[in-house]
Amino acid sequence: MSVLAERLINALGADAVHTEPEDLAVYSFDAYSEDRLPSAAVVPKDVREVTQVVRIAAECGEPIVARGAGTGLCGGAVPTHGGIVVSFARMNRILEIDTRNRRAKVEPGLINLDLSRATARDGLFYAPDPASQKVSSLGGNIATNAGGPHCLSYGTTTNHVVGLEYVDSRGEVVTVHQDDPGYDLAGVLVGSEGTLGIVTSIDVRLTRLPEAVRVCVATFGDVESASEAVSQVIGAGIVPIALEIMDKVITGAVEAAFKAGYPQDAGAVLLVEIAGLADDMDASEAAIAKVVRACGALSWRAARSQAERDLLWAARKGAAGAIGRLAPNYYIQDCVVPRTKLPVVMRKVEEIVRDHQLQVGNVFHAGDGNLHPLLLFDRSRPRDIQAVIEAGSQILQTCIDHGGTISGEHGIGYEKRESLGLLFSADDLATMGRVRDVFDPARRFNPDKIFPSSASCNEVRAAS
Ligand SMILES: Cc1cc2nc3c(=O)[nH]c(=O)nc-3n(C[C@H](O)[C@H](O)[C@H](O)COP(=O)(O)OP(=O)(O)OC[C@H]3O[C@@H](n4cnc5c(N)ncnc54)[C@H](O)[C@@H]3O)c2cc1C
Repeated sequence: MSVLAERLINALGADAVHTEPEDLAVYSFDAYSEDRLPSAAVVPKDVREVTQVVRIAAECGEPIVARGAGTGLCGGAVPTHGGIVVSFARMNRILEIDTRNRRAKVEPGLINLDLSRATARDGLFYAPDPASQKVSSLGGNIATNAGGPHCLSYGTTTNHVVGLEYVDSRGEVVTVHQDDPGYDLAGVLVGSEGTLGIVTSIDVRLTRLPEAVRVCVATFGDVESASEAVSQVIGAGIVPIALEIMDKVITGAVEAAFKAGYPQDAGAVLLVEIAGLADDMDASEAAIAKVVRACGALSWRAARSQAERDLLWAARKGAAGAIGRLAPNYYIQDCVVPRTKLPVVMRKVEEIVRDHQLQVGNVFHAGDGNLHPLLLFDRSRPRDIQAVIEAGSQILQTCIDHGGTISGEHGIGYEKRESLGLLFSADDLATMGRVRDVFDPARRFNPDKIFPSSASCNEVRAAS
């Protein structure tokens, strides 16, 4: 047994430490395709055990990668440098629900949807709702600053985190709160992808459930006209709580899987959700329908029951899984453009995909200008892999060329770290590197992530 394994077992007990290759395989990948075995995986039950793991890692010179549910789409939880994976599967409790102040304190392994389920009886919910909310953890959501369909109106994860407890690089427990005087360190940790510290508890804001909700479906001849309608709705001063687009490839796949009632003859479907006072629903729906029809909508209808609304959303959120019917593999791109640029960028995406003889399905948070082309491929065919890599990077470049950025919600992780240089200068990267070094001078937390490989510690420091 290695010294590392022996020390971890002494600290956490044998049932919380895995070192056999067949067990480690479970911790070697996420929803991105990379796959590397760590030296050990540990499943701590409390913050004290996390501090011990961080100290042992420092003494043994091992990197540490925090892992939530492993649904990340950019290789963030992949232990690319080996070392210790810290899984939060056992730290998944709701510690406190404070309904009077609309706050909750939770452990990072808690599944996103479980929080809204637990607070629904008090008329409250946790607003950030990634499509993966049935399986992804709050710790992973915080580390990636997760988005979701309802973030159009409610804001992304960072708007709902009020405080954090984390274990720093010395193995000390630190708490930070939004109300602390001075720098907003909770804000710095949100979206830091496990590179600054290991989050061990989270204080979140809860939101009041709206009195009434209405979900409507509009159809269009193509994705471009649906995208144009999204800008026109918001330009008219109306902000629904969600504006999502699915193209024909996606609606075909989700209908086969869910039978939710999405029309099959349209080039694109726009899913609109409005929420607020019951008395306002008819007027809000009529105002949006008017704009959408003026943009060439072929049809408009409102779901009639809660069951129908739930099914429409289940199908939308299950789109990535439903795509499994069409191809053995898919690569999902995640980038953002100013909303008004959606029609031109969506046209360009079509061209890129056609040039590479690939098939694409588009399902995206249109209200946020957040594109998600799903490039379908078969990983057993080397030609496909090359085509997907090239098309993916051309789509990214197109978004940048149109004033956009390279990730809307999935993060940078391992996948996009080389692309960060497309957006930031060496000076910018050096500044970010200095922030990282304040938190974690040895760069033991999640190495190989976010920063381009060329910007190694020394180069980043030298550039500063
Ligand atoms: C079908 C599908 C749909 C998705 N839809 C969306 C969507 O709509 N919006 C969206 O934003 N994302 C979406 N995602 C991506 C993914 O679900 C999110 O990135 C999610 O936030 C990751 O959570 P996780 O618990 O799976 O984290 P993991 O994948 O385990 O980890 C993600 C990152 O968080 C870090 N991390 C995890 N826990 C901690 C901790 N306690 N402390 C410090 N760092 C930590 C990891 O090191 C890693 O860098 C989707 C993924 C899938 C597969």
